[in-house]
Amino acid sequence: MSDICPKCGLNKELCVCETLAKEKEKIRVSGIKRRYGKYITTVGGLSKDVDPKKILKELKTRLACGGTLKDGIIELQGNHKEKITAILKKLGFQEDQIDVS
Ligand SMILES: [Zn+2]
Repeated sequence: MSDICPKCGLNKELCVCETLAKEKEKIRVSGIKRRYGKYITTVGGLSKDVDPKKILKELKTRLACGGTLKDGIIELQGNHKEKITAILKKLGFQEDQIDVS
């Protein structure tokens, strides 16, 4: 019925939301402090072309830490926010794709 994009309010012919979403696919790295001072670093937003298990394996090896995969989100033990961007870059991701918060 409506040809208006719910996101940007433009006519769907003019809307670029989907294109932008693809180009600006962001890998979200965040640190979470769990109880008892346990810290984990999560890596989410990986594209569907990427095998998260492979990335997890690489990260665990390079950071020498434990980690698991939960619903497509990588959880690493410890705070690796400072090192992780460099490693993700080596794995072929672009720096402006990586959003560390
Ligand atoms: Zn739109």
